[in-house]
Amino acid sequence: MYCQGEMKPGTATYHVDRRGYHVLLDHVPAWICSQCGEVYFEKEAVQVIQRLIGDMDARVRELVQTV
Ligand SMILES: [Zn+2]
Repeated sequence: MYCQGEMKPGTATYHVDRRGYHVLLDHVPAWICSQCGEVYFEKEAVQVIQRLIGDMDARVRELVQTV
């Protein structure tokens, strides 16, 4: 935490840049600093996104190999 701003629950866009693909997820649960706007994503949300990326990595590899 860089500032002492109050953290408020909300949602934010999660941007994933991977080799070969890019994902934008809307409305990901997050805590947002009311002072500086810094976003901290919910730990559970990040875990789900990591599983999603694992699946995507495998599918994208499959796709690229078939082209
Ligand atoms: Zn802040």
